[in-house]
Amino acid sequence: MTKAVLTLNAGSSSLKVALFPVSGDKPMATALADRIGPDGHLVLKGPSGLPLEAAPGDLSSHASALARVIEGFRVDFPDLELLAVGHRIVHGGDKYEAPVIVTPEVVAELERLSPFAPLHQPHNLAGIDAASEAFPGVPQIACFDTAFHRSHPWVNDAFALPRDLYDKGVRRYGFHGLSYDYVAGELKNRAPHLFEGRVVIAHLGNGASMCAVENGRSVASTMGFSALDGLPMGTRCGQLDPGVVLYLMQQEGMSADEISDMLYRRSGLLGLSGLSNDMRTLEGADTPEARQAIDYFVFRAQREVGAMAAAMGGIDALVFCGGIGEHSRLVRSRICERLGWMGIEIDHGLNTENAPVISSRFARTSVLVIPTNEELVIARAARRCVARKADAGA
Ligand code: ADP
Repeated sequence: MTKAVLTLNAGSSSLKVALFPVSGDKPMATALADRIGPDGHLVLKGPSGLPLEAAPGDLSSHASALARVIEGFRVDFPDLELLAVGHRIVHGGDKYEAPVIVTPEVVAELERLSPFAPLHQPHNLAGIDAASEAFPGVPQIACFDTAFHRSHPWVNDAFALPRDLYDKGVRRYGFHGLSYDYVAGELKNRAPHLFEGRVVIAHLGNGASMCAVENGRSVASTMGFSALDGLPMGTRCGQLDPGVVLYLMQQEGMSADEISDMLYRRSGLLGLSGLSNDMRTLEGADTPEARQAIDYFVFRAQREVGAMAAAMGGIDALVFCGGIGEHSRLVRSRICERLGWMGIEIDHGLNTENAPVISSRFARTSVLVIPTNEELVIARAARRCVARKADAGA
């Protein structure tokens, strides 16, 4: 019998799945189902990282995509027994500070929170539905992107709006918490003295945000009420004067749906470059618009490192993660270029090598690159929840 824990990360049109053993950090298999719908595409990788065979079939919904992933995994692991399924859930509101076992009450609360993350939460719930149907009786564990930020002081939790809106849930929740949780944990292992200090973690991927982590706890984040705020992203705008939204409604006659589509899907690097949401493509492109898109990304990142450091009264380390943070030597070096006043100075040789520590030897502030691993955070949480449940039942 192959006992395992499954992790699910359900996006609007994608499903990332990983199969973890009951202990250990390396997944036994992974899958990415993309463009769920009529043109769905599935890639499965087995223990050696090599492609697994998947029978051709239906990828029209999250449920059918999950069924095909499991069929594919069963080819290599015919006697698979799942102990738990861990889910990435974007919004846990102010209630969930830690992973929980999914019950009908939890689902009801997550559905209540759906209007706060309309582009993500319904898909996360679809993932729970699909997994509950596929694996009846197997505990489902919800792991929240907001949970890591529940330690924010009130001034970083509130907007200066009429008070009743705060009570109705209009707050700065912060996201990417699973990634920050992983990176903070890694930092604790690698450099405990930095973990105990003031750290800015820059998660720079297709979605991008920064988090101020003081003594292991999040005290501020660039993302707030939604996953739109803060840094510009692949297709999301980042920080925006709310007056722009009013103008678009009142003068340009745009509907809420049209504005939402623009801010989430047609802005950021894609909107500015008119070319691509992908940093690699922009780095390789030779148009003024592509260069300006990178300039804007770098400038806003520099500003936000300053803002996060200010929230902690200083900075001891800057950590890069996410696709851009882990791989783009250019973006890392350009962001750090104007942060000498914070004691940040990188060693260009180490940066070019993508070394784990890229700050120069005599720099006051350490700069690290720590590849993130949200799936592992989910798998560990799922294992813990199952172990606790077993202890409680013993
Ligand atoms: P997601 O938020 O969807 O998980 P990722 O963390 O995978 O996204 O980050 C995707 C981004 O990372 C893309 O903009 C991609 O171009 C960028 N990226 C990946 N590798 C490189 C590289 N070698 N150089 C520059 N950018 C890179």
